[in-house]
Amino acid sequence: MPTDPDVRAELVATVRRFVEREVAPVALELEHADEYPAALVEQMRELGLFGVTIPEEYGGLGLDLLTYVAVVEELSAGWMSLSGVVNTHLITAHLLRHHGTEEQRRRWLPRLAAGELRGCLSLSESDAGSDTRNIACRAERDGDEYVITGTKMWVTNGERAGLVSLAARTDEGITCFMVEKEPGPRSGAITVSRNIGKLGYKGIETVEMVYDGHRVGADAVLGGEEGLGRGLGFVLSALETGRINIAARAVGVARAAFEAAIRYARQRRTFGRPIAEHQAIQAKLADMATRLEASRLLTERAAVLKDTGQRCDVEAGMAKLFASETAFEVATEAMRIHGGVGYTTELPVERYYRDAPLMLIGEGTNEIQRLVIARGLLARYRDDA
Ligand SMILES: Cc1cc2nc3c(=O)[nH]c(=O)nc-3n(C[C@H](O)[C@H](O)[C@H](O)COP(=O)(O)OP(=O)(O)OC[C@H]3O[C@@H](n4cnc5c(N)ncnc54)[C@H](O)[C@@H]3O)c2cc1C
Repeated sequence: MPTDPDVRAELVATVRRFVEREVAPVALELEHADEYPAALVEQMRELGLFGVTIPEEYGGLGLDLLTYVAVVEELSAGWMSLSGVVNTHLITAHLLRHHGTEEQRRRWLPRLAAGELRGCLSLSESDAGSDTRNIACRAERDGDEYVITGTKMWVTNGERAGLVSLAARTDEGITCFMVEKEPGPRSGAITVSRNIGKLGYKGIETVEMVYDGHRVGADAVLGGEEGLGRGLGFVLSALETGRINIAARAVGVARAAFEAAIRYARQRRTFGRPIAEHQAIQAKLADMATRLEASRLLTERAAVLKDTGQRCDVEAGMAKLFASETAFEVATEAMRIHGGVGYTTELPVERYYRDAPLMLIGEGTNEIQRLVIARGLLARYRDDA
């Protein structure tokens, strides 16, 4: 059900206030220190953001994806890392909601919605990023249990999460497991073996995790016995919301970069007038704003479509592709408009420039998005024939 526009507007205004009052004053410092924003995350929990798209019957706010993308845009305009705290958490909730058994939904969704339990997604491995079918992590059946062995890479929120949506190989094919663990560097036979250093996207962890014969009950198989071998399909479908999240983040970063650029262009003077009066700068501002607006519309359209329950690889892919390329370009142009000060660590412009490339890569690179979009279009045109 679409969210009442007044409810949506109220939540977005609340998040915007939170970003202005709480995030903006500390983002620069926390980011440069690469420090986990524990106090901000706690406030996000109090605002209900860990349950924003989880249905009310499971304790969430039950809001639609259009509301979610607006919230993600606000968070990312303040500090993109904050949107990463909720992204794979809500992908995990999405997996449970659409592919879990009722028992699994009741067991985990209320705690995820309350933010007591934090979710993460563990699909990628060092040799299985774009090539997801190459997953080597194995889960062997042993009576009523599965024994998981393998090394997963790039697990954002992996250390602090208490529930991992894990893709592992079983006799039936790739299966998605819901692995409950203690937050921290070690839990059972799971070890966080490395915290990966990053260009941007600082403050929240992206880690390597080793499973050395970790045991889970058979009830951890997402969707029960029927879910065996269907995990990759489940995860790829949930990744559409991940791509919509990435598109919304990109819109937030592009908006922040554009707003910084236009403010600076009005105030900085060269050759006796504000640089905003030079036509070369005006052309940049016009292109930046146009692409930003188009990115937001594509993102909203993908969110509306996904809310209807349809697969929307093409629309989610288009939004992610266009918005992320836009964020990258707008961040670069914002830096150029700032001249020398844009290159310093005193202003957030250099952060937008470091954060933007993640959106080109995360949730499937843009090279892969183009393949996904083209395949989807070719199938649609074949079906039309
Ligand atoms: C900061 C960060 C956080 C992440 N968080 C998570 C997470 O929480 N959970 C998770 O599971 N994963 C996560 N990832 C992993 C991410 O999804 C992968 O890095 C991404 O899918 C790319 O995979 P790869 O790194 O193996 O690159 P590769 O697949 O090795 O690609 C290398 C290059 O080859 C290109 N390429 C590959 N195949 C093709 C092809 N068929 N045609 C054309 N070009 C191709 C790619 O586009 C890219 O340019 C994260 C990554 C980063 C950087």
